[in-house]
Amino acid sequence: MPRSFSEIQRRIKQGNAVVLTSQEVCDLVALGGASRLKDVDVVTTATRAVMSGTYAVLSFRVAEPGAFSRAERVWINGVAAQVGPCPNENLGVVDLIVFGTARSRDRRDWGGGHLFRDLVERKVALVEVETDDKKTFQAEVGLDEMPFARLNGSRHAFMNYSAFINPGEKPLSTIFHARPFEPHCRGATFSGCGQINPIKNDPLLETIGVGTRILLNGAEGFVLGTGTRSSPQKPNLSGFADMHHMKPEYMGGFATSAGPECICSWAVPIPVTSKAILQEIARLDREIALPVMDVNTREALGQASYADVWEGVDLDVEFDPDKCRGCASCQAQISCPTRAIHFDGQAAKRDEMLCFHCGLCSVDCPSGAFECNLGSIRLKRAEGTEIAIPVVLRQSDKLRALMLAEDLKDRILDGSFMISQPVERIS
Ligand code: SF4
Ligand code: SF4
Repeated sequence: MPRSFSEIQRRIKQGNAVVLTSQEVCDLVALGGASRLKDVDVVTTATRAVMSGTYAVLSFRVAEPGAFSRAERVWINGVAAQVGPCPNENLGVVDLIVFGTARSRDRRDWGGGHLFRDLVERKVALVEVETDDKKTFQAEVGLDEMPFARLNGSRHAFMNYSAFINPGEKPLSTIFHARPFEPHCRGATFSGCGQINPIKNDPLLETIGVGTRILLNGAEGFVLGTGTRSSPQKPNLSGFADMHHMKPEYMGGFATSAGPECICSWAVPIPVTSKAILQEIARLDREIALPVMDVNTREALGQASYADVWEGVDLDVEFDPDKCRGCASCQAQISCPTRAIHFDGQAAKRDEMLCFHCGLCSVDCPSGAFECNLGSIRLKRAEGTEIAIPVVLRQSDKLRALMLAEDLKDRILDGSFMISQPVERIS
């Protein structure tokens, strides 16, 4: 039976709470064990995806006090930062805002999301400063030299998202594909982790509110409210966390055919405080609509379900280097949105920590060195017909989202993560 927030907090402290991941809940339901859900106190939910609405606020010293009056333009590893809002006159300090989608001056496929991960990996960054009196100088700075480094989501963690296809006549460069989107509905891309997504489990935002403690890229942070363009039909969240405590494997850059994008991960605990939440946590992918959009016009063409893209598919991409025949030009490597494929002599290698499990290499490699069943969108059209369109790229990484949900569950059970009651409901 649903319990009050304080009762759940007490049960966690006493070590009596039943905490399950949302995947465990859905597995129970799929096997006919829905009646056992009445004992569940907390469900841990998660998502990992390309999240454009990401920015970092950074503040750090670049020179001795008095070395310059004001910074006017700043680049970090070639990525332009917005300088300010504080001018920090004569202090030798810069306050900056860096967008996750900002593109490097030097590399078309590299941007803010890549920079954030490099910083969290404790790589030193080259900071170039142009001052108001047109002096220029450089400094090398790492995350540990930044007293303030906070990552913010202005539009993250949608309840669920969409699939995209290109019914047009020409390929299209877009943020929804890692290479130009093939015309004539030849392939589909999509985003959203379906049944394990945080707001899917609390769509009325009964327990997720202002001040809810979360994991953002593995670091403890808080919900600020809804994000931009949030609506009751398609809600999303804004939030923040300290970059010093983030884990690189949950974040990063994602190269699309329209420029670099930013990967982020959220895990949110949902205390089962009402019958409505109990019903929602039991909803499976097959009951969750996946709108299918025309990537040219963003108009809805019909509907599929998240079962098409997450049920009976491979979450991981199998890689067998022995099957690589060493093509003159490796299309899998060229298209890989996280640049996880590289060559050691003739042999292809995959960086497991960089891989996003998007599946595109399994589509592009002609010899089966990469293999993955990505599923197909079964598009139900308004006139009642149905067509199957193969998924060619995932912009959500459910495999690592599941790991994050497990991580959150472990932290709740060992007492290192305390669930927090919102200070205000999101209206
Ligand atoms: S496309 Fe496949 S077979 Fe060709 S080089 Fe790349 S990994 Fe090897
Ligand atoms: S699944 Fe393949 S294409 Fe996608 S990130 Fe991993 S290696 Fe790159």
